[in-house]
Amino acid sequence: MGVSSQSFQAILDDLYHKYKTLDDGKVASYIPELAKMNPNWFSICVVTADGRVFVAGDAEQLFTIQSISKVFVYGLALEDHGREAVLSKVGVEPTGDPFNSIIRLDEYSKRPDNPMINAGAIATTSLIKGNGATERLNRMLDMFRRYVGHDVYIDMSVFVSERSSGHRNRAMASLMRHFGMIDDRMDESLDLYFQQCSMMVNCRDLAVMAATLANRGINPITGDRAVPTRYIRDILSVMYTCGMYNFAGQWAYTVGIPAKSGVSGGIIAIVPRQVGIAVFSPPLDTHGNSVRGIKVCEELSRQFELHMFDPP
Ligand code: GLN
Repeated sequence: MGVSSQSFQAILDDLYHKYKTLDDGKVASYIPELAKMNPNWFSICVVTADGRVFVAGDAEQLFTIQSISKVFVYGLALEDHGREAVLSKVGVEPTGDPFNSIIRLDEYSKRPDNPMINAGAIATTSLIKGNGATERLNRMLDMFRRYVGHDVYIDMSVFVSERSSGHRNRAMASLMRHFGMIDDRMDESLDLYFQQCSMMVNCRDLAVMAATLANRGINPITGDRAVPTRYIRDILSVMYTCGMYNFAGQWAYTVGIPAKSGVSGGIIAIVPRQVGIAVFSPPLDTHGNSVRGIKVCEELSRQFELHMFDPP
């Protein structure tokens, strides 16, 4: 980004200290396990496409990945079926509705609007290939392992609460099943969806995952390929237009790089061929995006002219 490693580290430290005391927003509370998160948890991690790692705050603190998983599962669906087949099952249109909206799923819709909302993510999850629940889960975990660079596991209590309280997601899946948008492995696919949301990561893991997307699908730390390069364009396009819930338009306007957030307070952002950025801070704004996460990304974008349409 045109600065020395030392000064970049100093800039991250400054951002961390500047926003550490900002305490707007509310920690997600739709399940008790998420409400237990400490609102003071805060970390920023940037990993370059050539594998350098910069950290501010406690980037080792574990949390569940939640909706950020949608990006990577979309990649697996593309890998399993190819662009055309996936496009026939899940669209690429932003909705402007909340992520868990059910309103556009009706007899007039052919498919969920995009893979970054819950309905679309349940549909991409239903596309994961495999013979039975265990094989499909293992294929999904293997995929995440390639992005993260080490073993990953699922937080059982978050998974069980997501599953037992996920009536809205179940309702969407039933509707999609009824309309023939997903196949009859509905319960298995819903479990896979709740499991992907409940996967444990830390801020460093998220930054490595983001850097893997920045590095055309190759994990810059391990050198392993996580996803074929030809799907990077598809993944980043839907992140750019749909990744930040019903704040996606404003995000594209102000920050201007592909990103995805999740209810546990994580945000990943990608500067293609350069860096993966991750911020973790649980308190959320009314759209469901991390308050500190948005601030940090806005500042990084401004300071380093990361917006895709900044003049070269
Ligand atoms: N588990 C959450 C859900 O399905 C994930 C949502 C999110 O991070 N936005 O509602």
